[in-house]
Amino acid sequence: AVQEGFDLEEVEGDLAAAGHGPLPVLAVVGRPNVGKSTLVNRILGRREAVVEDRPGVTRDRVTYEAEWSGRRFKVVDTGGWEQDVLGLDASVAAQAEFAIEAADAVVFVVDATVGATDTDEAVVKLLRRAGKPVVLCANKVDGPSGEADAAMLWSLGLGEPYPVSALHGRGTGDMLDAVLEALPEAPAQTFGATLGGPRRIALVGRPNVGKSSLLNKVANEERVVVNELAGTTRDPVDEIIELGGITWKFVDTAGIRRRVHLQEGADYYASLRTAAAVEKAEVAVVLIDASESISVQDQRIITMAVEAGRALVIAYNKWDTLDEERRYYLEREIETELGQIQWAPRVNVSARTGRHMEKLVPAIETALAGWETRVPTGRLNSFLGEIVASHPHPIRGGKQPRILFGTQAGTRPPRFVLFASGFLEAGYRRFIERRLREEFGFEGTPLQISVRVRE
Ligand code: GDP
Ligand code: GDP
Repeated sequence: AVQEGFDLEEVEGDLAAAGHGPLPVLAVVGRPNVGKSTLVNRILGRREAVVEDRPGVTRDRVTYEAEWSGRRFKVVDTGGWEQDVLGLDASVAAQAEFAIEAADAVVFVVDATVGATDTDEAVVKLLRRAGKPVVLCANKVDGPSGEADAAMLWSLGLGEPYPVSALHGRGTGDMLDAVLEALPEAPAQTFGATLGGPRRIALVGRPNVGKSSLLNKVANEERVVVNELAGTTRDPVDEIIELGGITWKFVDTAGIRRRVHLQEGADYYASLRTAAAVEKAEVAVVLIDASESISVQDQRIITMAVEAGRALVIAYNKWDTLDEERRYYLEREIETELGQIQWAPRVNVSARTGRHMEKLVPAIETALAGWETRVPTGRLNSFLGEIVASHPHPIRGGKQPRILFGTQAGTRPPRFVLFASGFLEAGYRRFIERRLREEFGFEGTPLQISVRVRE
């Protein structure tokens, strides 16, 4: 089935250059209305519907991939915070705190036409304490006459203010050059993996599913969860926990232990936290409260992990509370609500009684193994050849698209590129994915399959 004329090394080089690996993370922070969303849109160079999202609207997506001067990075938009819930200063402080924890560099946006406010000064303090590189964006400098306003912002003590008009694009190039200088080549969070450090787990799930109970259980000590305010103490963000004889890093456990963020209405904050933890992790353990119906929020969290391309384990918690009837309905719910992720290993646990805790590590290991599976090109193509012969694509408009050749472009998660003679329908792509899983396993990992059409 392998066609002549494709230079495999060239294709793989292409894909590697396209930056499928872990990318450094840039956070854009600042007071409301200074132009963060406008700037993020400008950086992305496209009209993502970011500005349309108003505060209070829960957004699933907070990170976007961007590219400047051939380098790729992730942009975290911290706009859309629920100020009504947190209050202005608290929400801006929370943003900054989030940025400190999740980002490799920060763009701090100030409205140059307004000048530095007390809230801005407060954020500067937080940023300084974090020690992450900061690029100061003096926004709304729409013309040369605004340059003087920008210069006033030297007073913030963050170095050179970059005069920018996010709205018109003025000055954004120079600012982005400074951003690239500030960003490390690879995210600090992933150095551990390349250097053989502990594997990184994100323990995620909606409030009250039992994350903190589970964490205490696996850490094998009952810690008092104190009701401390964000930013008052510098907790370690991650925790190293030995589990099943292996050392793991549970990322962003500070977010789990800080109950203050679980106040009513702080959904958006929780969602940011989850996104940040998932970004940093290799495997997401999504905890679901088995005593309650599977909710949209549960599904959203799972989607986040899948879209981020992380290995996935589903843990159904509070199993000790289930009676026979609930168990029956749970299985039906899993079938209908979570049919798309049947490939994820599942454990039924109780953080309270310790039930099946010993099954967690094998499930995580299975998922990580699937995540790292590589299928040699020869094997992949003989498999694709068999599929094309036994289950050809349906004929459309007198034409029959054919898969000509395929290659696995990467792992963590496995990424495939299929070259085809025509557009492959979604149904056929799903069929290919199903068959790939039947043939090669891939338990616990999302698969990314892209199709390139060659005439
Ligand atoms: P955010 O709340 O910080 O995300 O701010 P937005 O991006 O939503 O922008 C707030 C308002 O400022 C909007 O009306 C924007 O059109 C406007 N704005 C953003 N950047 C600029 C700029 O560079 N110049 C001018 N004149 N207005 C801007
Ligand atoms: P988090 O918000 O996800 O961190 O959830 P918590 O760990 O704070 O747990 C929320 C509530 O569920 C607490 O009252 C826990 O005692 C309870 N809980 C957690 N795990 C279990 C479990 O396995 N069984 C039972 N019955 N209750 C649990």
